[in-house]
Amino acid sequence: QGGVVFKEVTKTYPDGTNAVDRLDLEIRSGGLVSLIGPSGCGKTTTLKMINRLEEPTSGTITVEGEDILLCDPVELRRRIGYVVQEISLFPHLTVAENISVVPSLLGWSAKKTRARVDELLSMAGLPPEKYRFRLPDQLSGGQKQRIGVLRALASDPKVILMDEPFGALDPISREVLQNELVSLQKNLKKTIVFVTHDMGEAIRISDRIVILRKGRVEQEGTAEDIRNSP
Ligand code: ADP
Ligand code: ADP
Repeated sequence: QGGVVFKEVTKTYPDGTNAVDRLDLEIRSGGLVSLIGPSGCGKTTTLKMINRLEEPTSGTITVEGEDILLCDPVELRRRIGYVVQEISLFPHLTVAENISVVPSLLGWSAKKTRARVDELLSMAGLPPEKYRFRLPDQLSGGQKQRIGVLRALASDPKVILMDEPFGALDPISREVLQNELVSLQKNLKKTIVFVTHDMGEAIRISDRIVILRKGRVEQEGTAEDIRNSP
């Protein structure tokens, strides 16, 4: 069974906060699923458990059929792309070096890495010869976020986690990146788990929407189901 599957997953933080409560979730391989809901409903905790930045208190999570608790967390994180709102490019590394972080850890040759960086930059409409050697502070907010997405794609992971990736952008850049993500998804067929609190964004980009409330699924369905529900 592909995709990401949660069975009876509970996360209680040490202070007793029940962030996720017996959550069952099935995110099919190749789909873009948004987790949405009010602040504090457990979206980020749910996402972080998928790459073991947080450990569940109980229950099981499988990624591409594998129980993640049996995987080495560091190895797992290299297999799962992760994009967050706070742009986390390394400021002293060039665009090319930022995109190559995971390929370097995986021991790719310089030639293979460079070809991949150029391919990704071209795909994002950033001419490699112009952008390869720039530092993050020579990029716009939208460009930085694009590089963050390319970094997550670099080693071609099957699963990508995105936590409000466009939340810090102005409305226009945000819409441009949303559209880019949708066309990227059409071509690459990644399994994307996307956290947002913006229903318009969720409806625009998702195959499927899961509404969380107090750490449980309150409602789920296609963007159309959700839009048409009372
Ligand atoms: P079919 O292609 O057979 O019509 P659907 O794709 O409409 O089936 O979905 C079948 C079931 O799987 C429905 O309950 C649907 O809500 C659910 N489903 C569809 N896409 C996903 C997904 N990405 N993740 C989890 N469940 C999904
Ligand atoms: P969301 O992403 O939907 O805003 P979170 O997953 O961040 O929700 O948080 C769910 C609940 O868990 C909230 O009540 C939050 O305050 C709490 N929480 C999140 N992280 C921690 C932590 N490290 N320690 C204690 N409580 C936390």
